[in-house]
Amino acid sequence: MSYARVLCVGLVGVTGHLVEVEADLAPGLPAVVISGLPDTALHEARDRVRAAVVNSGQRWPNRRITLNLLPATLPKFGSAFDLAIAVALLGGSGELPLLPLDGVAVLGELGLDGAVRPVRGVLPMVAAAAQAGVRRVIVPAGNAAEAAVVPGVLVRGVDTLHRLVAFVRDGAPLIEPPADDPPPAVTGPDLAEVAGQGVGRRALELAAAGGHHLALIGPPGAGKTMLAERLPSILPQLEDDAALEVTALHSIAGLLPAGGRLIRRPPFQAPHHTATVSSIVGGGSGLARPGAISLAHRGVLFLDEAPEFSKAALEALRQPLERGRVLLSRSRGAAEYPAGAQLVLAANPCPCANPAGDDRCECPPLARRRYLGRLSGPLLDRIDLRVRLQPMRAAELMETTTHESSALVAGRVVAARQAAARRWAELGRRLNAEIPGPDLRRLPWRLPGRDTAELRARLDSGSLSARGFDRVIRLAWTIADLDGRARPEKEDVGEAIALRTGEGT
Ligand SMILES: [Zn+2]
Repeated sequence: MSYARVLCVGLVGVTGHLVEVEADLAPGLPAVVISGLPDTALHEARDRVRAAVVNSGQRWPNRRITLNLLPATLPKFGSAFDLAIAVALLGGSGELPLLPLDGVAVLGELGLDGAVRPVRGVLPMVAAAAQAGVRRVIVPAGNAAEAAVVPGVLVRGVDTLHRLVAFVRDGAPLIEPPADDPPPAVTGPDLAEVAGQGVGRRALELAAAGGHHLALIGPPGAGKTMLAERLPSILPQLEDDAALEVTALHSIAGLLPAGGRLIRRPPFQAPHHTATVSSIVGGGSGLARPGAISLAHRGVLFLDEAPEFSKAALEALRQPLERGRVLLSRSRGAAEYPAGAQLVLAANPCPCANPAGDDRCECPPLARRRYLGRLSGPLLDRIDLRVRLQPMRAAELMETTTHESSALVAGRVVAARQAAARRWAELGRRLNAEIPGPDLRRLPWRLPGRDTAELRARLDSGSLSARGFDRVIRLAWTIADLDGRARPEKEDVGEAIALRTGEGT
């Protein structure tokens, strides 16, 4: 026989597609031709596969070899096809009977010495194979734990092409994924460690309960980073589907910790202000790497010293935050990744970053306005909660009272989110932050005039914009939800105004 076929999986964005690797060997001048929309990495597979086959003690067929990857219309990225290509051409040359690989998807990159190397994105690849009805997969040993996370698939690992050949030929054993230990307790920074910061803690709880983007303005040492890092600890743990999605994105980025467990805690990403646009939104050649905004999907994207980020980086965040997805245009088609992160911005009130805060700052008012002005416009427009934090007082640091733990706060957050989800179910939405202004302003949700008098006065006097009006109302709903009340009252609107304007600090 001079023809063979092996199953593999290709990724486009976060979506896997079953790919058939066909090898046809014909008499003629020795050559290897690859067709089916391959990228550079795949063209280089020719040389890797040849070296690996020869160095594994197999005979290289000196014939004209045509490799075809189907469906031909699907763009193929990366090096995960190497292993399937190697066994397909050994099968086609008659060296290897491929019956044991019938219905098995084979993934892995080959080293020149015949070693099988881990690849990025194994989790979404195996998930796609499972969805397409494949029940057995063979993956690089280094990816076996990650692949085993997918239910309903038998996973086996290989460390060398030699081992795979021995399995196919003689039924020699493959490597089993590591045993599934009980999951470690979810740990991370806890709100119990934060002293003082009444306003900051309140803002964090509201952000978690309503899904609001949050801006923290305050001098260095006011605890902005401490608070932001603890937002994931009061968000609900990720449900199965969300956990699989988040873990898949980290798999594609090659950032899954060894042991390959589902990520259950909402992720936290804090790119530095010198970060490039592509590290924030994603990019790179071959299989595009998700950026910080996708790695923070269903978690928190924290921009510390936000006005210091490049204008291009801040601008690049705008659309993904609006759409919840990021589209990376590429030379061949586009990759799309989820990007539904909750944004937390932190900023000093002025460029001098005086730790004593506003009291000692000598920057002229224009310089201060211009500094925060870098954030204004499209990005700041999407942020419901903007609070001013004061520098920590010595008395707060010396407090000996115990502070509420994250677990306690998380309990209130879950209850508030459930109330909001029930209320907005008929709009098909769950979080207060997602409710469009027109819906907030119409019955049955419109608040009575007596409760919004101050808000309307501010709107009339021009001290509050129409968008600002809607944001205060959204926040007031979250305040009521956290308090277990069916509707916001005048006091809730008052607190929301104070949090928006910094008057409450
Ligand atoms: Zn200053």
